[in-house]
Amino acid sequence: MEKPGNVRLRLLSFAVIAYMMLAFAWWSILLYTKNQDAFLAKRDKLRILMVAEGSIKNDADFFQSTQYLHLEKQYKRQEYMVLGEAVVFTISLLIGLWLINRGYKQEVGTARQQRNFLLSITHELKSPLASIRLVLETIQRRSLPPEKLEKLTRGALLETERLNSLVNDLLLSAKLEAAYQPYRETLDLPQMLEDIVTRLENKYPSVSFVFHKQSAITTLEGDRSGLSSVMINLLENAVKYSKPPVEIEANIRQESEHIILEIADNGKGIDDKEKSKIFDKFYRIGNEDTRKTKGTGLGLYIVKQIIVAHEGTIEVLNNEPEGTIFRIKLPLKVDKE
Ligand code: ADP
Repeated sequence: MEKPGNVRLRLLSFAVIAYMMLAFAWWSILLYTKNQDAFLAKRDKLRILMVAEGSIKNDADFFQSTQYLHLEKQYKRQEYMVLGEAVVFTISLLIGLWLINRGYKQEVGTARQQRNFLLSITHELKSPLASIRLVLETIQRRSLPPEKLEKLTRGALLETERLNSLVNDLLLSAKLEAAYQPYRETLDLPQMLEDIVTRLENKYPSVSFVFHKQSAITTLEGDRSGLSSVMINLLENAVKYSKPPVEIEANIRQESEHIILEIADNGKGIDDKEKSKIFDKFYRIGNEDTRKTKGTGLGLYIVKQIIVAHEGTIEVLNNEPEGTIFRIKLPLKVDKE
């Protein structure tokens, strides 16, 4: 929702611009007609003078005389000047209008993202804390049978893991904003991906994961924790934004001097108009009040920053018949400074 103050300010600036346009149009028309009047008066005066001097016999002579042609040329030049100024001024005003509108839209977008972020972060921080607290209180109050205790503590541990990854994401995104330089070491990316897929297979037993290594792959110099975070984020999103039966494919291959990594799901897919926005910080599709899935809108922002720091690219494609494919292209050779 727009704040009433913002709407008023916006309407006021549009009204001022509209007034300026009208005033300018009025002055331009006035200048144009006055210029025309001046020209006609000068023309008539010249004709009377020339008739009195006897230098012309009729109108045809007058309209061909050098004095008249000179006067007409001067008039045309002034007419073009008025028209030219009007066009330049109108274009400048329209550009101004467009800039105001663009700035305003950006502001509204940022405000929406901040609100979304605050709502989701509050929820994401509060709910694990509340459930851990509940578990601890239950344990404190009652003596529980070992299997119940084991179940409760497992749940609490999962919640602490969620909190931990949220805090890590926040810290990582803050770090990415300051100068982030990937700490490079020799990595066996297919092995890393396979290990992560195996871990997620245990975490989500109902999801079917497929891992494909499609060609021999050279090792890559990269940041282990950064690139792990990229793979985990994409795979977790694939699980989160798909409905059962969930099928996820992780492909890795080498194409000449690049490693191509693809995470494909059969989920709800991403609209074309959202594809460029999802990598923005705190951006989540839809509205926080109605959304069911948990998240902060930091995941894909972090993914993109890490890939860019490795001089790679990431793109989003539609999967067939439905779902999404995230494709990452990482260069094997990086320009070292
Ligand atoms: P979060 O998951 O915390 O909302 P992300 O930055 O990871 O934030 O993702 C941004 C948005 O992109 C998500 O809110 C979701 O709407 C959309 N999205 C990400 N991955 C997928 C996917 N695999 N399928 C469909 N939508 C996705």
